[in-house]
Amino acid sequence: MKHKTILIQGAMDIEVKYFIHQLENMQKHIIAGYEFYTGYIHSLKIIISKTLVGVVNATTATTIGIMTFHPDIVINQGIAGAHKATLHIGDIVIGEKCCNINAFSMPTKQEGCSSNPFEWEPNKRGKEIQVGNTILVNIFQDFFKSNYEKVIYTGILGSGDVFNREFDRITWLQKQFNHLCEDMESIGTYSVCKQFQIPCIGIRIISNNELINEQLDKEQSITLQKLFIEFLQNKTV
Ligand code: SAH
Repeated sequence: MKHKTILIQGAMDIEVKYFIHQLENMQKHIIAGYEFYTGYIHSLKIIISKTLVGVVNATTATTIGIMTFHPDIVINQGIAGAHKATLHIGDIVIGEKCCNINAFSMPTKQEGCSSNPFEWEPNKRGKEIQVGNTILVNIFQDFFKSNYEKVIYTGILGSGDVFNREFDRITWLQKQFNHLCEDMESIGTYSVCKQFQIPCIGIRIISNNELINEQLDKEQSITLQKLFIEFLQNKTV
């Protein structure tokens, strides 16, 4: 990663504000309403992008970020909800893969025949699996495993515009997609980076688990940012 330009994304203020404070020679750029903060961390050129919440915003911000700043690597990071009972708040998921968990086809039903989402099936886009950069997966696995006390998982990030809160829905989704957690942005980043052929990785810290009643704790995003800063300062990147 030596001399590389790294674009780091977060959707909400809380997911980027710690990073922004760490930038040396920070400059703010607003493009089509999307905020980008350029600067240096430990002599690495860093662009912090506030993508805003949701897949459409993440997709747009990734496209603008790549075309404007020409990064060598894109990291999408932030909080996510666990979709397996074994994951707890504070655990980290490294997105070896990413999929769109909101893309379905369904059987026809006539008027008055109700709706049964459990009959739906992932459509072409739902079955399409995006892959994170293998080198980045390995680098971050090594780093987090030796610098963080909670559990580090490597697997599939589920992504879409719904904050699922129904136990049966979550377990049904998990059976379809085999993902570990749910966020609202990473699929946009993976899809755009694939088109531009730019190595990318999504890394999420668990902020809630509806299956075991662990309620949303957005502050987890600060812990993750601190770990990234440690990574950027200590690694010979
Ligand atoms: N009320 C906030 C949304 C916060 S939670 C707002 O509209 O601004 C949604 C954000 O946190 C998204 O950026 C998403 O990536 C992440 N997230 C955390 N837990 C999630 C979950 N269980 N399902 C979907 N997204 C989740």
